[in-house]
Amino acid sequence: MKTLEGKIALVTGASRGIGRQIALTLAEKGAAVIVNYNGSREKAELVVKEITEKGGRAESYGCNVAEDAAVKEMIQYIVKQYGAIDILVNNAGITRDGLMMKMTEEDFDAVVATNMKGTFFCIKHASRVMLKQRRGRIINMSSIVGVIGNAGQMNYAASKAGVIGMTKSAAKELGSRGITVNAIAPGFIDTEMTEGLSEEVKAKMLEQIPLNRIGKTEDIANAAAFLASDESSYISGQVLGVDGGMGCY
Ligand code: NAP
Repeated sequence: MKTLEGKIALVTGASRGIGRQIALTLAEKGAAVIVNYNGSREKAELVVKEITEKGGRAESYGCNVAEDAAVKEMIQYIVKQYGAIDILVNNAGITRDGLMMKMTEEDFDAVVATNMKGTFFCIKHASRVMLKQRRGRIINMSSIVGVIGNAGQMNYAASKAGVIGMTKSAAKELGSRGITVNAIAPGFIDTEMTEGLSEEVKAKMLEQIPLNRIGKTEDIANAAAFLASDESSYISGQVLGVDGGMGCY
């Protein structure tokens, strides 16, 4: 069903993995999608091609979300070209794992800059447009790690817990103008981010997932499409775990 017909969506970090699938799913449901990327231009172009070949509308836009001025320019460009921003999916994210005793300040700052500050910049600039429109859907990609923590990921956990705090704060600031803000907390999803993990670590993870399978990018994209649609209009400030039951306690 074309639940997003006529909507304009920006998906950050949409060249690969979860973001790519979110872009494809939103486009399938009728949205015009701006496929943001940082370094993977060719991959982003392939996502655009896949969407347009199926009759959808999309274009790629390169921008490092950790740069405030670049994000501002991206939002201004979208408004100029499309006249609105209805859906913002803050998906861009990185990891720089390591035990905290060995974690450098640079590794901490890099992860917080992309995952947390990038989300802040995108919300800040896009919400200006959404406030004027008096409508909008903001979906922030957190992680189960931001909820329950993980050894070796102190920087990542801090950034993703920060995303949850920002989600709830933005929901309170923007709700009176018809804008909803929610977070998705994925569990263990099969992407380039997780493919480097050893078979032993993967097997241990699997033991913790009640549904007994690793998540697919489609599992996250379907949840994002729901939160982007009119069907979720009374849901705001929430953190939706999409993790096969891994995070239930
Ligand atoms: P991925 O395969 O590594 O893809 C990351 C995406 O983010 C790429 O498109 C990358 O673009 C983009 N990106 C990175 N830094 C960026 C920046 N500064 N500005 C703009 N784009 C940037 O990761 P993934 O597994 O799909 O993860 C997507 C999101 O879900 C992340 O926020 C991640 O933390 C979260 N998540 C993932 C899992 C999981 O199990 N996979 C679990 C929980 C949460 P370029 O290639 O162009 O640099």
